[in-house]
Amino acid sequence: MFRTAPEDAPIPPRAPGEPDSLPDAVSLDRLLVDADPVQIIRVAREVIGRERLAVVSSFGTESAVLLKLVSDVDPAIPVLLLDTGWLFPETIAHRDALVTKLGLTDVRSIAPDPNQLKQRDPYADLWSTNPDACCAVRKVEPLADALTSFAAWMNGRKRYQGGQRTHIPVVEQDGVRLKFNPLARVAPADVLAIARSAGLPPHPLAKFGFTSVGCMPCTRRTLAGEDQRAGRWSGTNKTECGIHTTL
Ligand code: SF4
Repeated sequence: MFRTAPEDAPIPPRAPGEPDSLPDAVSLDRLLVDADPVQIIRVAREVIGRERLAVVSSFGTESAVLLKLVSDVDPAIPVLLLDTGWLFPETIAHRDALVTKLGLTDVRSIAPDPNQLKQRDPYADLWSTNPDACCAVRKVEPLADALTSFAAWMNGRKRYQGGQRTHIPVVEQDGVRLKFNPLARVAPADVLAIARSAGLPPHPLAKFGFTSVGCMPCTRRTLAGEDQRAGRWSGTNKTECGIHTTL
């Protein structure tokens, strides 16, 4: 499925005398450009350390695969779920099923600041008038706060999802942090194969035609022939919540 980098491929060192400095994103990306997802996660775990490395997961329709691979490397790597207050109950059930199945030991729900919600979305209708502002207060800002104690994070974006994801690197600089995209190079068939061979439970909404699941007001079923993420913010120009574009 993937060409793998040699096991003994040199990992760019941290700068001498600067224990908190991070390896260079460009060097890491070059090292891992052809690596398989597990190898990318393993290197991230090795160079960053478990306590300073987080996985951000929506527990959506394809989240199980990244979480399975993470759990193969280290099930204690912290996993952050942005609980916006608008998640489907099925997503919460899927989270609980995956925690049990994969033995994840450190899954954290990240909630918006209640004072900010009171000021900026007092009637819980901001999604309908200004979805970017809603995502800012319910996703982007809570994640920025949650990531202050981490040096790097991983996520499940794939190039085949298209749009702004078409050209994502394997490793990139994200402000002061590194961001790892272990699934950047996978194909839909790879995702399916990993899910099947591991016996991963599907998201409960997948069987009803939801190919990508986010918040309730901003997610609809996809229709035949539509892109996988066509049901997200349907009818608007919005395609990303902002955590990958504004952090
Ligand atoms: S996806 Fe929709 S409901 Fe969720 S935070 Fe963004 S705008 Fe708000």
